[in-house]
Amino acid sequence: MPAVPAAYSELCKLMRDAAHLNSVASLLNWDQETYMPHGGSEGRAEQSSLMAGIVHERRTSPKVGELIANCEADDTLMKPGSEPAANMREMRRDYDRATKLPGELVEELAKVGSLAQDVWKEARAKDDFAKFAPWLERMFELSRRKAACYGFAEGGEAYDALLDDHEPGGTAKMIEATFAPLRASLAELLKKVADSGEGPSEKPLKLKIEADKQHKFGLFVLEKMGFDLNAGRLDVTTHPFCSGIGPGDTRLTTRYRDEKFSDALYGTLHEMGHGLYEQGLPKADHFGEPLAGDISLGIHESQSRMWENFVGRGKPFWKWIMPHAKKHLGKDFGKYTVKDYYAAVNTARPSLIRVEADEATYNMHVMIRFEIERALLSGAMKVKDVPGEWNRRYKEYLGITVPDDRRGCLQDVHWSFGLIGYFPTYTLGNLYAAQFWEKINEDLPEMDKQIAKGQFSELKNWLNEKIHKHGRRYRASELCKKVTGKELSAAPLMRHLAAKAKAVYGV
Ligand SMILES: [Zn+2]
Repeated sequence: MPAVPAAYSELCKLMRDAAHLNSVASLLNWDQETYMPHGGSEGRAEQSSLMAGIVHERRTSPKVGELIANCEADDTLMKPGSEPAANMREMRRDYDRATKLPGELVEELAKVGSLAQDVWKEARAKDDFAKFAPWLERMFELSRRKAACYGFAEGGEAYDALLDDHEPGGTAKMIEATFAPLRASLAELLKKVADSGEGPSEKPLKLKIEADKQHKFGLFVLEKMGFDLNAGRLDVTTHPFCSGIGPGDTRLTTRYRDEKFSDALYGTLHEMGHGLYEQGLPKADHFGEPLAGDISLGIHESQSRMWENFVGRGKPFWKWIMPHAKKHLGKDFGKYTVKDYYAAVNTARPSLIRVEADEATYNMHVMIRFEIERALLSGAMKVKDVPGEWNRRYKEYLGITVPDDRRGCLQDVHWSFGLIGYFPTYTLGNLYAAQFWEKINEDLPEMDKQIAKGQFSELKNWLNEKIHKHGRRYRASELCKKVTGKELSAAPLMRHLAAKAKAVYGV
């Protein structure tokens, strides 16, 4: 093995240092969401912005640019298919994107984002879209400028440039091509479900259970599923999240509702899926390098959705968990059967709010947002028409009437601080999860039996080997092809949802 070129070692060292600094920033953020006293807010905002500035400076320094160029000129290092070549491809990408935006635009985006978020909060509370409209306009204007700085491939559109922040290599056309058949089949399925009558009761989920019992139960599930609690934690926040702080430190949060234990259970499973991905990335050897980074939000979300929906909402899971749930959550649990729980967690009912939507209808919420933000960005839709376009689509795709903008186009925070091109990654996650899941069941035919016995190690190993350990070596679409042998398609998710509708609604 030839010696590693000095420029490459130095570059990796600089990237590792920047990643460690970023860990400090993540820890500040985690603390702010969990244990920081309210009085610390202002000081923390200063600390966070200072840290963000330092990390950005480190990652965009001329020295980094110089080292990247040196490494790129080294043919032995750039051997196609090698680890260093993959690292260099991604470092170049990160560096170019980070240095393409003028500082003045970055500052403006941050400032307008923070102000617009405040206005959005008020507008939502007062159901006043007109108040938010000029800010939304301003945010899309700035986002168009941002997209122009990034640039996009010939035949593409501005949306691609923004999507690339969250789903590298993805394009609006690709998303549209995957979403269109999904929308058609989903509409058909939801119609059948709606016509089938009332559907199962959610009563089994509405047992009153204290938070500390739920917490101990959550830890039990995490441990059994293979989340390493020596290298991770579970805490409580208003908005659950997972933070891969650094090597050996992955933190999950959840929230407890006394009257509906399934909220925390599925929230915890979701964040654990993200957490297992973080724990499975090769951070011990490659921390700070792209090889230890996640591929995209879509792939990250595929991991959380898999544990939440494909494992956690399956019958084998409920077979395994029932006796443990009775022990941890109380004997009231015994009033219901595995079948009751399976049905209760798999209802499919059109609703107004995305974050409360079930597995089947959720994707419709995402598609509506994708269509609207794409049209706003290209100028095909005007901001003033958003409420009308929103409501029309809810009627058409989900068959429901939106009573006000508070529960309509003002419900999500994303656009207010410039997260455009982010929504599709939620549905991409569901699609990837379904496609991986079919492959997993082919490779591990005993999996249902294993889950019913509480054995998750083969599943976890499969994910570690096929997905996690590669870091950012492949693009999401490449990984999908490599792992499943096929391009991403809507068919596996539709098969999964149709099977559930059959089991639960008999349609
Ligand atoms: Zn997630």
